[in-house]
Amino acid sequence: MLKIPTHLAQVNERIRRALEHSGRPADGARLLAVSKTRPAADIRSAFAAGQCSFGENYLQEALEKQQQLKDLDVEWHFIGPVQSNKTRAIAENFDWVHSVDRAKIAVRLNDQRPAELPPLNICLQVNLDREATKSGVLPEELDALLASLNDLPRIRVRGFMAIPAPRDDVEQQRLALQPLADKLQQLQADDRIRQQHPQLDTLSMGMSGDLEAAIAAGSTLVRVGTDIFGQRPPAADAAS
Ligand SMILES: *Cc1c(COP(=O)(O)O)cnc(C)c1O
Repeated sequence: MLKIPTHLAQVNERIRRALEHSGRPADGARLLAVSKTRPAADIRSAFAAGQCSFGENYLQEALEKQQQLKDLDVEWHFIGPVQSNKTRAIAENFDWVHSVDRAKIAVRLNDQRPAELPPLNICLQVNLDREATKSGVLPEELDALLASLNDLPRIRVRGFMAIPAPRDDVEQQRLALQPLADKLQQLQADDRIRQQHPQLDTLSMGMSGDLEAAIAAGSTLVRVGTDIFGQRPPAADAAS
């Protein structure tokens, strides 16, 4: 566990270098530490080393850790598949949801977001590689999904999230992600879209194995688990 601060510093250094390498501003991308399957003590250790944003995939596990970490001002991100019977607890206990892929879920999150909290930040998950086993809206369905999210004041659509199929080559990784970055730029330039979604500024792309490529493609939020906390048991990655 003493290794967590060291690993965290190494990942932050990779992000810094990747931004520099792409000629992007030093604050162009930030780190979401993915703490699924990790004990609350690991989050505490990373938090003490300066990491404030954490991503969780499994609701029950996340709620238990949130209880144990109430004394910390953590920014909580939900990044796992969202079932409709879980939306209320997610709307009540998270700051961000990265994995919205249908209007019904967004509407429920909007309706169930407590009035005393700020609007819930959401990203639309896109199934870039059209994988049958993965969640996410298909790229050609993105416009229609976005159009169905107008006038939902309790959520704030911030951008897109993707989990591409693994590729070994950094340039291939970048090419897989680039269309989503281009799509976000195109929407940002559209006045009608901007009126409804003025805070469309987030590309949640890049994990331990492809963060350099994701930052080259324009990622603003990289989600890193393994390279901070170590390998997870294989079963933990079954559902994404
Ligand atoms: C587990 C997970 C990650 C982190 O992946 P690593 O390869 O461990 O860095 C990122 N995003 C999502 C959606 C995940 O489920």
